[in-house]
Order: sequence, then structure tokens, then C-alpha cells
Amino acid sequence: MPLLKLSCVNCLAPLEIGEDLERFTCSYCGTAQIVERSAGVIATRKIETALKAVQRGTDRTAAELAVPRLTRELAEAQSARADILATARKSGERAMRARRKAALITFCVMFFVGPLAIAGMGASMGTFLALLWTVALIAVPVWVYNNYQLPADKVLDATAAIDARIAHLEEHLRANRSILDTLPV
Ligand SMILES: [Zn+2]
Repeated sequence: MPLLKLSCVNCLAPLEIGEDLERFTCSYCGTAQIVERSAGVIATRKIETALKAVQRGTDRTAAELAVPRLTRELAEAQSARADILATARKSGERAMRARRKAALITFCVMFFVGPLAIAGMGASMGTFLALLWTVALIAVPVWVYNNYQLPADKVLDATAAIDARIAHLEEHLRANRSILDTLPV
């Protein structure tokens, strides 16, 4: 078997190894090394650093794949958030209209029913009852208006969930970008 002359990467001792050997251990210092042949150039590396390079390449590849995927998922989450807010705004406007309508209907019913009820009780519309009726005519519709349920809580729950997802995606994106920034190619 033809021999290959090279020197140990660790202690620089001259070594001779079998030409088709891929790994060897220096007989002087015991450092395990890997032989790399590319384009006719032969180089040796400590196995430890060779493994680190493979790990680095794997991390880099994973980050390179993750960044576009996370960017896409982030854009999707943000557009879903915009949809939720738009839907919420629409249903909020609908609820506001329904609330005004409920107050108005209450006012109308009281306006017509109040004098009938007073007449029905056999009482005549005196100053006191007239005053009571006027106060009730304003107070009751205002009460209805203020106590009308608006769908605000559900919207907050929905946006809180999507906000958490957006924060999670942004964090992963930052982490993967910093891997790409710090790891050499
Ligand atoms: Zn050595």
C-alpha cells in the first residue's frame, strides 16, 4: 500500500499513513485526525473540529430552512390578526347600532305605554306622575343603552391568542437569524 506523507495537525510530527486511510491517530501525541481529500488537495483535521464543522453546517442548514418558513407563518398570523380585528370592528359596529335601536324602542314603548298605564290605574296625570314619567322616559332608555352587552371580551381573547403566537414566531425568527449571523458558512 502506498504511503502518504503528512504532518500531525496537533504536534506537527511527520507521519506516514496508508493512502486510502480516512482516519488515523498520531503515533506521537495520540490526536485522532480525519483525512479530507478534495480536488486533489489532501488536508487533515482533528476529528473534533471536523465534527464541529458538520454540526455547524447542520445548524446553518436548519436555520436557512427555518427563516423563510417562520417568515411565512408570521405573515399569515399577522394577516389572521388583521382579519380578527376587522371582523371584531364590524360586529362592534353592528352591536352599537343594535344598542341605539334598543334604547330608541324602549323610549317609544315607554312614551306610549306610560300614559296608558297611568290611565289604566285610574289615576289622572298629575304633576307628580308627569314628572316621574318624564324622568323614567330618559332614565330607562339610558339604562338599557348602558347595560347593552358589547362583544368586546371575545375579541380580546382571540387577539391575545394570536398575539402570543406572533410573539413566539418572532422569537424563533430572531434566534434563527442570529444563528445565520454568527455561524460561519
Ligand atoms: Zn501528533
